[in-house]
Amino acid sequence: MSSDPAVGGDLADRLARVAADVESAARAVGRRPEEITTIVVTKFHPAELVRDLYERGVRDVGENRHQEAQVKAAELSDLEGLRWHFVGQLQSKKARQARRYAAAVHSLDRSSVVDALSSDDGTLLDGFVQVNLTDDPSRGGVPVDDVESLVERVLSTPGLRLRGVMAVAPLDEPPRAAFARLRRVSDRVRSLAPEAQDISAGMSPDFAEAIAEGATHLRIGTAITGMRPGPR
Ligand SMILES: *Cc1c(COP(=O)(O)O)cnc(C)c1O
Repeated sequence: MSSDPAVGGDLADRLARVAADVESAARAVGRRPEEITTIVVTKFHPAELVRDLYERGVRDVGENRHQEAQVKAAELSDLEGLRWHFVGQLQSKKARQARRYAAAVHSLDRSSVVDALSSDDGTLLDGFVQVNLTDDPSRGGVPVDDVESLVERVLSTPGLRLRGVMAVAPLDEPPRAAFARLRRVSDRVRSLAPEAQDISAGMSPDFAEAIAEGATHLRIGTAITGMRPGPR
């Protein structure tokens, strides 16, 4: 894949375009682009794409399936400083294994997962409480009203460092309004945990709206990687 200059060239173009769009979206609302981390979501793509991204300066990548992430992280263990962000549903029984490669888990959505991620070996895993911004429980994330109790749970779990909140925009609502709600949830979380200032929000179609509502961590897939191959 990296041996095909056309593919690499397109990748460089898309990376540069997204970086420029992030920068202008930030400046438009008086924010500094440096305070925003772009995580390139590489799910379903081969490890080789992650290597290409790394060679172009990317240090934060995201995956949403444990099995796939584990295999890729092992294959790319030579890439120093590469951080794996786990952004998908995590089964409690896989949580402990995810700790080994992940720098951050963005999908803390129930106490069983939080408990399974606990560790007293001295390492710290960054965690985001995933908030469900819809009324549909199948969409993932903790209901808005239950955020505080899950936050308390994370704060009392050894080995976890609460970074903030995460959400995916609902399908049936303008994203800006949904991200504004997430921002208010973030304010509540910060009154419990002042250091948990981060907001993981914004994907390919809606990252500008997320930036306008304070997102600090964007999770961008297709706008950078191009179309995803089907799940393998
Ligand atoms: C796939 C995925 C993304 C990236 O989506 P794109 O629309 O390709 O940018 C972001 N967040 C989560 C949780 C995902 O599963």
